[in-house]
Amino acid sequence: MNTIITRFPPSPTGYLHVGGARTALFNWLYARHTKGKFVLRIEDTDAARSTQASVDAIFEALEWLGIDWDEGPYFQSQRYPIYQEHIDKLIQTGNAYYCTCSPERLESMRAKAMATGKNPKYDGTCRGKDLPKSEKAVVRFKAPLTGTTLLEDVIKGNIVFQNDELDDFIIARSDGSPTYNFVVVVDDITMQINTIIRGDDHVMNTPKQILLYQALDAPLPVFGHVPMVLGKDRSRLSKRHGATSVTAYRDMGFLPEAVMNYLVRLGWSYGDQEFFTKNDLIEKFSLKNIGRAAGIFDQEKLTALNADHIQATPPEKLAHLLLPFLEKSGIHAKPGAFLVKIVKTLVQRSKTLEEMAQAASFYFAETIIYEEKAARKFLKPAARQALQFLMDALSTIETFTEENLENAFKSVMEKTGLKLGKIAQPVRVALTGKTASPGIFEITEIIGKEKVIQRLKQAVTYIEQITE
Ligand code: GLU
Repeated sequence: MNTIITRFPPSPTGYLHVGGARTALFNWLYARHTKGKFVLRIEDTDAARSTQASVDAIFEALEWLGIDWDEGPYFQSQRYPIYQEHIDKLIQTGNAYYCTCSPERLESMRAKAMATGKNPKYDGTCRGKDLPKSEKAVVRFKAPLTGTTLLEDVIKGNIVFQNDELDDFIIARSDGSPTYNFVVVVDDITMQINTIIRGDDHVMNTPKQILLYQALDAPLPVFGHVPMVLGKDRSRLSKRHGATSVTAYRDMGFLPEAVMNYLVRLGWSYGDQEFFTKNDLIEKFSLKNIGRAAGIFDQEKLTALNADHIQATPPEKLAHLLLPFLEKSGIHAKPGAFLVKIVKTLVQRSKTLEEMAQAASFYFAETIIYEEKAARKFLKPAARQALQFLMDALSTIETFTEENLENAFKSVMEKTGLKLGKIAQPVRVALTGKTASPGIFEITEIIGKEKVIQRLKQAVTYIEQITE
């Protein structure tokens, strides 16, 4: 089999949308799975809407997701001479012609068709005239008037288009600029793309593109049109449904592996398997398992999957990834063993890195700010003595280990007659400010003797003040 060559051709008119990222992933995975090639092309011929900021944002999002490319980025705006060559070729072979019909005439033709409920269609006035190139002339493709064009779609199956529903569409405007369907085909031919997976919003462009391949005497690529990504209400995914930009998920503390996993599963399946690493996906991805049903984007499911990926990531790596999120919440932590220990206590409890950073903040606090409810419920006079006893017991311990911490708590239980649960909650509030945290021995050990005693003292003073 020939080398598979796929492509991703975003238009740089905004950030990388999760739907676009999914298309990129399908093409990239298929290329990686088959040891083929993946080409990146920037479709920036719409100068009014294309921006460098969007180009940069797209690169950034692809890099974050871990999608690399073997060729490109090509920029359509730099390829006009190639398009011109192909326009000339189509004119020479009689597959295209100059047309000088005035915009007014075309408009009145269009209005008439609309009024009678017909599809507006060019009437072929200039088709047989063999007009020369001229200032106001556009170039039209000479489309077949009869017969059918077949799209053999690997996802949707065969789709037959009636040629008499197409017209002699424009491939170059009067200023010489080539049109969308034409440049896509010229690019895909010259870049030797042989597999095109894209959103099914492009199905209606495909018969025109197939006719152009035929006129340019080029072999057809494999086409596969993927159903759109929808929101939970089954309308096309938009900002109403939550964040739709790939990098917004990065900023919210999602892992690229999780976003990749989730997006690929929106439209592709492998039995019942939900969790995939990047290598898993490369190994298992195939076009035949892309489904025909629209993928429904559900941020909650993505979040749950992110939690699974967090748990599957080595704590050392998570610690490193957590740093910018800690920084964002004003914590200047250093990478190293201390942070890794902290991460280990939070892995099971954090669905995103952002959540993890928030949950980690008590480890770094100078003074603990109590959640109101937590303080009201647990920092009561009844707890004062236990906290004081614990402080005394801990002061005598040289280094905190799980074993001697357990013994210290046991001695407090004996002295007060309270069960561990009754002691642990006030201690938890004293050490973290909250009623929920990782295990009490774990956090005591990590926070360390000096700070633990300082925090217990703070809690005792707090109780004394509220009882005065
Ligand atoms: N530039 C097009 C888009 O962003 C993609 C065209 C194609 O895949 O053929 O929708």
